[in-house]
This record gives sequence, C-alpha cells and structure tokens, in this order.
Amino acid sequence: MGILRRFAYREVEGLRTGRFDLEVNTSAVLYSIGSALIDTGPPNRWLQVREFLKERPPEHVLLTHHHEDHSGNGARIQAEFGAQILAHPAALPKLAAGWRLRPYQHIFWGRPPQLAAQPVPEVVELKDGLRLQTLRTPGHADDLVCYLEPERGWLFTGDLYIGSRPRYLRQDENLELQIESLHAILNHDFKVVFCGHRGVVTEGYRAIEEKLDYLLNLCEQVRNLHRKGLSVREITRSLLGREDLTSLATLGHFTKGNLVRGGLAGEPLT
Ligand SMILES: [Zn+2]
Repeated sequence: MGILRRFAYREVEGLRTGRFDLEVNTSAVLYSIGSALIDTGPPNRWLQVREFLKERPPEHVLLTHHHEDHSGNGARIQAEFGAQILAHPAALPKLAAGWRLRPYQHIFWGRPPQLAAQPVPEVVELKDGLRLQTLRTPGHADDLVCYLEPERGWLFTGDLYIGSRPRYLRQDENLELQIESLHAILNHDFKVVFCGHRGVVTEGYRAIEEKLDYLLNLCEQVRNLHRKGLSVREITRSLLGREDLTSLATLGHFTKGNLVRGGLAGEPLT
C-alpha cells in the first residue's frame, strides 16, 4: 500500500514516500542536493526517510513550508544527523508549538514532533558551489517559499505547483495570494521545477504558466456565473462537477467549493 521510490535528476536525488499510493498528493517528495535536503517527508515514513539520509546525511534542511508532509521529519533529522533546519520566519512558531491536524492528515501523514527551526537566509550557500535563493510565494500557506538554483535554472517549489489544473482548494489557502505568487515566480529565470508532490517537471516554467492561465480563466468563469446569480454550489457543479470522495475524506477541508469561493474573494457570497 505504501510507496517508496528513489530517483535522480543530475545532482539532485529524490525520494518519494507516502503511506498510500493513490493520487499524486498522497505521497510527498524530498530532494537531496549537495549538503542540503529540501523538505523532509511525512512523519509516518521516518524509517524510510532515515534509510535514504544515512547515505547522504544533510547539513542543512530547507523547508518549503510547515505542512506535516514537508516538515514532518525535521526534528528527527535534527536529532539524528545534527542538521540545521531552516524555514521562513512565519513557519517557526507553528513548527515549535504544533498546529491542529485534521483526521485525514493524521491518517495520511502522521503528527510531526515539535521542531526548533531557524529563519532561512535570502541566499543559502551549499557545498559544490551550489547556491539557493529563497523566494517568498505565499498562498498555499503563508510561510511557503521556493528555492531557486539560478545557475542551473532549477526551482524547488514545495506546494506552489502540484498540477496545472487544480480542482480543489484547501480551506485555509488564499487563492488570490497564490495567483500573485505564480505571477511573481515567473519573473525569475528557471526551467525545471522540483515539486513536493509531482516530482521533477522538466518543462516547469511552462507548467507554472499553464497553472496561472488556468486559474485566471477559472476565476473569470466563476465571477461571470456569480454575476448571473448562480450560487457557489451551482457554480461548482457547473465548472468542476459534484464534490467527491476527496471532499468527503477530508471532511470539507479540501474541496471544489473552496476553489470556487477562492475565485470569489472580495465578492458577496450567495
Ligand atoms: Zn502544503
């Protein structure tokens, strides 16, 4: 039932792991590059992650954001390998104190131990001449950052991308901010995207352009239907279809309706 897959892309080695091998977002990918690790995998997969890291012990762990499928092994990696854990300052209080997990998050990922992380600098110098720039990209989470390797045109995106045509949104995501972040990231020079769930996307710049176009187009359709007097539920059914198992399994945390409501930010809802 679980998934464990190693892969490599030039100097980057990746590990995909998850308790369930269902959709692309029910497993998570961590990336080892030089002396750094980008994201840590879900806490219920610690044994698999530890095996992978024994062969390439990290000195620095760069977290893209606090969500448990990305930060969840940070404390154990700190204890076992003495690695320094870095994250956006907005993530630090949540990592230190913990946050509320929904039942599905417990089942899919597990609860992460509390973690003392440090604020990530704007530029992280790694061994082997690699250099990563930290770029703020809030929306999916307020502490989401991407890491850019400018020489090679590589972008580690955490959960900024995931797919070009999302059909769901988390209740706590901010779609407007996400669209702004997608716009902003396209001002940088990169080609390959290393996504926290999708894996390596070699035409990554184009994929992010596609996601931005799709979301702008979807928001326009949502607003048009809303102006015609359709309710959120009617707009959702018309553009994305009925809510399905994803919405049910997450008890409404991850739904199509949230995506429609995100497109109506600032407009009175009916
Ligand atoms: Zn996330």
